[in-house]
Amino acid sequence: MIPIPYFSDEYYRRSEDTLNHALEHVKVYKEWQAFDKRNAPVDERYKAMPVLTKKEIRESFPGGLVPDGLDVEDAIEGGIIDYVKTSGTTEEVVTNIWNQQWWDASEAASWKLNNHTQHLNHHSREAQLASALSVGYLSNQDLSMQARTLERFLFLNEKGNANAWQDRHYERMIRELKEYGPAVLEANPSLLARFSWWAARKSVRLDSIPVVLFTYELISEIQLRQIRKVFPVPLVSSYGSTETGYVFMQCEHGTYHQNTDFCRVDFRSLKEKHGGPLKGHILVTTFGNPWTSIIRFDVGDLVSLKPEQTCPCGRKEGYMLSAIEGRTTNYTLKPDGTVVTNHQLDEALAQSPSLLDYQLHQLSEKAIRMKAIMEESSGRARKELIDILHCIYGLTSNIDIEMCQKIEPSASGKFFRSSSNLKTSLSEILQN
Ligand SMILES: [Zn+2]
Repeated sequence: MIPIPYFSDEYYRRSEDTLNHALEHVKVYKEWQAFDKRNAPVDERYKAMPVLTKKEIRESFPGGLVPDGLDVEDAIEGGIIDYVKTSGTTEEVVTNIWNQQWWDASEAASWKLNNHTQHLNHHSREAQLASALSVGYLSNQDLSMQARTLERFLFLNEKGNANAWQDRHYERMIRELKEYGPAVLEANPSLLARFSWWAARKSVRLDSIPVVLFTYELISEIQLRQIRKVFPVPLVSSYGSTETGYVFMQCEHGTYHQNTDFCRVDFRSLKEKHGGPLKGHILVTTFGNPWTSIIRFDVGDLVSLKPEQTCPCGRKEGYMLSAIEGRTTNYTLKPDGTVVTNHQLDEALAQSPSLLDYQLHQLSEKAIRMKAIMEESSGRARKELIDILHCIYGLTSNIDIEMCQKIEPSASGKFFRSSSNLKTSLSEILQN
């Protein structure tokens, strides 16, 4: 049994209205009417529906998810919406309809879920440290601070690849963070970790930043312990996607709370041997976006429910998570075929005190190759890593570790830490 979270009557009413509207007025979902258990409770109706994938979003673009009677071209001309393309490989890239007003409202609702961010609003000054492939201005040439400022945002980085940073870029970021005085620093954790490695070596501490908010990537304890050395301030993780807006937000006690005003989450447990019933896969339905109807969208991530669906912060509604476990495309497998999520791997490798970052690839059932960036790359440090990996992947596994200075990001500018040639389908690891 999974712990049952609390949901208000309003949440169920919105779930029902959203589904009814989609089935009647949105092209892609009209085809789902055949699955509808009309008189059943709303949770069962959702459960009976298919899953929306990136592939379907791509194939039905531009009109497939837009409610009948709305004119996309007119709205783009009128500046109400825009097209936005996600970055990455051909397989990853999706063009979505972007409605800034709805996005801002979803973001503002997520800020309410943490005491350190609840006072933020859309006039608050925000510094961003992310790949310029995701946000901001992309340039091989260095851009001035003015050229990287847009309204209330300062983009600290203009490079697509953080490995291009030189001493002058780190120095500039420190200077600009002090000068700009942001109310919040929003960061991609891999990039902020890289910044922190450098800053920690120079004994820099940036305690004037009121709060750091992590988005874009799965965060790890390995990155956090480096970031804490430089930012002795509240560090908060936010989870969402371009398609769904803001879905979960960590409160001041570290629990991820569902952004119930803006989305519905359907949780599907993994089989017990893979970490279920608390570990599972999520599907997201958005509320109130007039221009795009997202129902049971597979964001591609696994999560862990808190065993008790309560939190000392007192917030009551929605799913409460103890962890985001990482992407379904990033888990590896133990010799007995059970799933090792990216988060589990992070937790295990965090036992190595000098590890700064890694990228692990499972070549086969018996072979693991890993790149590791270490603070101290001694024989003992290497042996520690091998012991940890033997514990997970079996003593007879061949573990090949390459100590290196740099790890390359993916085509989207984000860093992924684990992948595998061994593939299982989602349906094989999910409970029926
Ligand atoms: Zn809480």
